[in-house]
Amino acid sequence: MRYEHFIGGTFTVPAGGCYLDSINPARNEKAAEIARGDARDVDAAVRAAKTAFPEWRDAKPIVRGRILFEIARRLRANMDKLARLETLENGKPLGQSRADVEIAAQYFEFYAGLVNLFKGETIDLGGDYHSYTRREPFGVVGVITPWNAPINQAGRGIAPALAVGNVVVAKPSEFTSTTTLELAKIAVEGGLPKGVLNVVTGTGSEAGAALVSHPEVRKVAFTGSVRAAREISKIAADRIIPLTLELGGKSPNIIFADADLGAAIPGAHRALCFNAGQVCSLGSRILVEHPIHETVVAGLKEELAKTRVGPGTENLSMGPVTTAAQYQKVQDYYRIAREEGASAAVGGDLPSDPKLRGGGFFVSPTLYTNVRPEMRIAREEVFGPVGVVIPFKDEEEAVRIANDVEYGLVAGIWTRDLARAHRVAARLEAGQVFINEYFAGGVETPFGGYKLSGYGREKGIEALHHYTQLKCVTIKL
Ligand code: NAD
Repeated sequence: MRYEHFIGGTFTVPAGGCYLDSINPARNEKAAEIARGDARDVDAAVRAAKTAFPEWRDAKPIVRGRILFEIARRLRANMDKLARLETLENGKPLGQSRADVEIAAQYFEFYAGLVNLFKGETIDLGGDYHSYTRREPFGVVGVITPWNAPINQAGRGIAPALAVGNVVVAKPSEFTSTTTLELAKIAVEGGLPKGVLNVVTGTGSEAGAALVSHPEVRKVAFTGSVRAAREISKIAADRIIPLTLELGGKSPNIIFADADLGAAIPGAHRALCFNAGQVCSLGSRILVEHPIHETVVAGLKEELAKTRVGPGTENLSMGPVTTAAQYQKVQDYYRIAREEGASAAVGGDLPSDPKLRGGGFFVSPTLYTNVRPEMRIAREEVFGPVGVVIPFKDEEEAVRIANDVEYGLVAGIWTRDLARAHRVAARLEAGQVFINEYFAGGVETPFGGYKLSGYGREKGIEALHHYTQLKCVTIKL
């Protein structure tokens, strides 16, 4: 399979004529070729978007909404094909890929329903004046996404941007570009005017940086690493353009002694192993109140032992990690944890099953005990199915350990005490808190980080504030 850029409604060969290979992580074999974009391709895409902007901005909101609904319908109609491509490049079990296509469809559906509801306000200045605000699109918005949930994250950035009248140039991860390209094609087939959504593929340092630097790009929504966010922020600071930064995490999942362990233990397992641990909001620090520490560790060991690892096409519970670099990084953290003196209650090394040692990027679900909060394994994001259990003595200590990292994306709380749930939720430094169900929420619930986990919010009505700029108009009557 060879994929070109999607510019102005058609697949377009890269100006430099070069292509990159994407890899099937279950076999470490070539999956597809994607165009290697550079500043010339980005410029062509931005120009196509800019040309399409006036018509899209001025379209009746209900017309934009109708098109977004149709994109959602077509995403679902193409679910099998999209899920297969997602699994091919990302590695996740087919069932999870299908769920991600469904979520992408829900983003289009949710924002389609809001096109007429998101509006400004009137401001009372007394009888002699009429003052009101308008929410206006920026124009060309760059949407840069990572490889862990490609179509889901593409939908998360593109749908709200389009709903409020922006035009988009998306730059998916070089490791997983195909489903974002397919999404753009489906969108045009569903009635989206050509040029409103463009996709340029390629590396971050080449295509990504060119997108952020382009003088006509007025806002960038970025999801990815802190490292890249810093580089992007420097360019954005120079250009004075707004960013939304959705970055990493090392999120606490706090289990109090009064929790329903029948829900908390499988919940903590899912929070740790979902998508082979490649989730920004992974529950990778499991904080457990002293009296139930042994019970929770024993329960988690049992759950983790049941995790079935294999190629995504076999639709087991966990696939490989997506990239060779990520495969290496997980192994590096096995070593770091060993050197720091943590005990691997489960995993801690590559899987012993010979079927999982044949070239694919398979890793073992891993749980460490004997971990102190200051260890690297307890503080740094692994982005793999690697968790630590840390005991705590009371609420005060739980909150202190939970907040004592540089990140602040999400947090989980398990307790039957509602007053405590609210009290602790209020004190946690995290953009989203889940109580008695980790990952609770959906496309409707605003998402984003405190501290190194970023700023701005995606999802929910809140995201629309970040894809619009406010104008205030005041008339002397
Ligand atoms: P990455 O930062 O390497 O890449 C993300 C995207 O940015 C890719 O498209 C890449 O090509 C591009 N990019 C890289 N350098 C760039 C640059 N200098 N200029 C412009 N674009 C550039 O991240 P990754 O390894 O793909 O993803 C893993 C990270 O993403 C983890 O830290 C994870 O926690 C985070 N993440 C966050 C969320 C969230 O919503 N908060 C969701 C998923 C992943």
